[in-house]
Amino acid sequence: MPEQPPVSTTDHGAPAPSDAFSLTVGADGPIVLHDHHFIQQMAHFNRERVPERNVHAKGGGAFGYFQVTDNVSAFTKAAVFQPGRATEVLLRLSTVAGEQGSADTVRDPRGFALKFYTTEGNYDLVGNNTPIFFIRDPMKFPHFIRSQKRRPDTGLRDHDMQWDFWTLNPESAHQVAFLFTDRGTPRTWRHMDGFGSHTYLWINAAGERFWVKYHFKTEQGIANFTAAEAALQVAQDADFHRRDLFNAIARGDYPAWTLYVQVMPYADAPGYRFNPFDLTKVWPHDDYPLHRVGRLVLNRNPDNFFAQVEQAAFEPSALVPGIGISPDKMLLGRMFAYADTHRYRIGTNYLQLPVNQPKVPVHGYTFDGAMAYHHHGAQPVYSPSSYGGPQADEAHGADAGWGVAAGEMVRAAATLHAEDDDFGQPGTLVRDVLSDLDRDRLAGNVIGHLRGGVSTPVVERAVAYWRAIDKALGDRIAASVGIG
Ligand code: NDP
Repeated sequence: MPEQPPVSTTDHGAPAPSDAFSLTVGADGPIVLHDHHFIQQMAHFNRERVPERNVHAKGGGAFGYFQVTDNVSAFTKAAVFQPGRATEVLLRLSTVAGEQGSADTVRDPRGFALKFYTTEGNYDLVGNNTPIFFIRDPMKFPHFIRSQKRRPDTGLRDHDMQWDFWTLNPESAHQVAFLFTDRGTPRTWRHMDGFGSHTYLWINAAGERFWVKYHFKTEQGIANFTAAEAALQVAQDADFHRRDLFNAIARGDYPAWTLYVQVMPYADAPGYRFNPFDLTKVWPHDDYPLHRVGRLVLNRNPDNFFAQVEQAAFEPSALVPGIGISPDKMLLGRMFAYADTHRYRIGTNYLQLPVNQPKVPVHGYTFDGAMAYHHHGAQPVYSPSSYGGPQADEAHGADAGWGVAAGEMVRAAATLHAEDDDFGQPGTLVRDVLSDLDRDRLAGNVIGHLRGGVSTPVVERAVAYWRAIDKALGDRIAASVGIG
């Protein structure tokens, strides 16, 4: 706080006539219509909020850097991942289903959305704290999210709707199993891993292609709340995770994650035992081990939450040379959805806002529109032109593509691979990865949730779902919820 506060002004910059009184005809008389100062205050106030994100509305974020520590140049030519490179980043962390004011510690996946301000343009990696997702086709996404949000009649969230959707969509089993372990209620954002979740394409300088998956392992260690501890925090501090991140950075306790990638040679994909582009599957580490890439460190809090976190716009379509997408249908759907929602939520020129602006010159052919701030002066507005407009670099800017077998257009599930099924990998998680204590907690978390207003037919389906994941666990849940 400066000792002598500045003079308040109108939004035009002139000294404000008052911060306390409207302009009236006599002290007790009506307010005059020409009190533009009051009207400016009130009208702007009425427009102070932008629509909240329909998913991931509640979050927090911080700036930092990504430092490459290892040499992965054999797999990608992307400047951001070349040896020794350090790049400024913004990370936003969030819950998924709740609204702006909702509590941070509820059971939900956490968003892990990263923006790298690279020397080749912005690269966004928009992931979660889970390596998998509930569905594998984006056609289901609006249905899925509606089932996790509020009922049309009561305006209440509803466990019956959630389990109804999950059990009618068995592809959700892996993510639901993960979510109902205590990793579904992380202690803080600092104490959880982050994943790119999808499979992405990397291309090296020689033009060779590799499929990759990103894993950000927390350097703080994994720490979770039990369901009871999480519920206590809901009551005590709805902003627990936002506050924790801000305070940690403010006291110089900078959170860090080590980035690893799994790398699959391009030619392995068709014959791999799982569909490597199925977002409900992981690649087992024994098949594709982790290669260390570098460190992500958060060391700077935002100066202004609205400008730098609320208006931050992440989109999987922000790609740089050397990095592409994959035939994962969820990712293909997200390529459209994210930029579209930003245009609606923030405005056509959302990429001109300081937090979203690339740190490299932008010389595009998109012009004007609401709130245009940057312009290219007299630069030609069409191409080709004889007057020196920018020209595409078709070699460096080439799309990172993959071969597609020709075929009829269909609405169908992707071709199955030998070991594709919905229950195998969650079964491995339950039997081979979880400890006895983890399994006890998982059972308790599911039982507690199913007791929260789920109708009998849906509970019966949920029991069958858990028995398909793991017979013993399903039987245990059945016994506790009164199903034979
Ligand atoms: P590994 O034994 O090589 O790895 C197990 C993985 O599970 C580690 O990434 C570990 O993450 C993670 N993990 C440990 N405890 C839990 C928990 N309570 N909840 C969720 N994840 C946990 O096994 P595989 O690679 O063969 O995979 C076996 C199963 O592990 C998969 O079916 C999947 O459910 C789960 N998993 C696999 C991942 C992968 O990318 N292969 C990633 C995450 C989970 P950490 O090191 O942070 O403890």
